[in-house]
Amino acid sequence: MAGNPADQENHFCTVLRGETIEESDGTIEQLARGGVGTILDYSVEGEQDEKSFIQTTEEILSIIRKAKTDQRIPLTVFKPTGIARFGLLKKVTAKETLSTAEQAEYFKVKARVNQICRLAYELEVPVMIDAEETWIQGAIDDMAIEMMRQYNREEAIVYNTYQLYRNDKLASLQADVYLAETDGFILGAKLVRGAYMEKERERAQRLGYPSPINDSKEATDREYNEALRFCIQHIEHTAFVAGTHNEQSCRLLAELINQYGLAHNHPHLYFSQLLGMSDNLSFNLADAGYNVTKYVPYGPVKAVLPYLFRRAQENTSIAGQTSRELNLIIREKERRRA
Ligand SMILES: Cc1cc2nc3c(=O)[nH]c(=O)nc-3n(C[C@H](O)[C@H](O)[C@H](O)COP(=O)(O)OP(=O)(O)OC[C@H]3O[C@@H](n4cnc5c(N)ncnc54)[C@H](O)[C@@H]3O)c2cc1C
Repeated sequence: MAGNPADQENHFCTVLRGETIEESDGTIEQLARGGVGTILDYSVEGEQDEKSFIQTTEEILSIIRKAKTDQRIPLTVFKPTGIARFGLLKKVTAKETLSTAEQAEYFKVKARVNQICRLAYELEVPVMIDAEETWIQGAIDDMAIEMMRQYNREEAIVYNTYQLYRNDKLASLQADVYLAETDGFILGAKLVRGAYMEKERERAQRLGYPSPINDSKEATDREYNEALRFCIQHIEHTAFVAGTHNEQSCRLLAELINQYGLAHNHPHLYFSQLLGMSDNLSFNLADAGYNVTKYVPYGPVKAVLPYLFRRAQENTSIAGQTSRELNLIIREKERRRA
């Protein structure tokens, strides 16, 4: 699908729900009727100047304020490159020396991250930090842990994202859980497989370093499922969002919840999918009483194009899942006709 511009255009129209929060309201209501919560995803990323970083920060703050008064929005999210320059995060991650101007710029980035997390804390609205490329992720991880230490003492407010397609991420998730246990905070973790696989592998090959990505899909699946199991075993100090369309992982998590005698709507547990994908999972899980949310992307079309291209590419890499969904729809239509 990624290769066909007409298909991509259709796909973009399906997933992008307007340019403003208000234009997303119909979608929020539709999901709520099926028991599914919304995560408003202001999908602007990769911006370069201070003015747009401030604008994006304001938008995220207004989403958090809206979530406070709207039960249909249980979680919020932001993308680090919507509020920070990619090149700066890269330099910090590589532990390069920053110039005086860059130090001042980084100070402002941290202040914006803190502003978002502090408001989330004051209003008791959880906020997740999306994960991006490995070569900027170190800076993001450090900020996320700092925010959790500050704001996750009583409940999970800040969530970082762990990409289990990375061969080092299960270990770092486990290390962070132990840190939370010894330091007395709750680790907030969004568990995903990861959306930048081709880019990661291509860069590693081009620059001649070992790929940070698991060698096979099976290895990623294994690590993802192990992460679910580990988080369940440490549920007292871990709150997590299973961000996946993978049926087996969803089933495993549902089984683990039963096995450990946890309530389906335990406040530390969420299933989450992207709008327009795996509705069969989202609505059935919600129907069974689990906490379920969907990312509802919105924003100015031009600024969210990188997000939309990634989703189109992803839909290609999970073609198996998509055709499974299609088969389910065909079977159901036949059942109703009979
Ligand atoms: C709510 C939500 C939030 C998300 N947030 C983020 C985020 O912050 N950052 C981010 O990067 N992604 C994010 N994603 C996207 C996610 O990382 C996956 O790309 C996407 O969900 C597909 O994975 P899956 O578990 O749903 O499905 P599956 O079809 O089971 O898995 C597909 C994924 O497996 C991995 N994979 C595929 N082939 C191989 C291979 N040969 N070797 C190793 N691994 C392989 C890739 O990660 C691929 O995307 C999010 C997804 C959801 C649902």
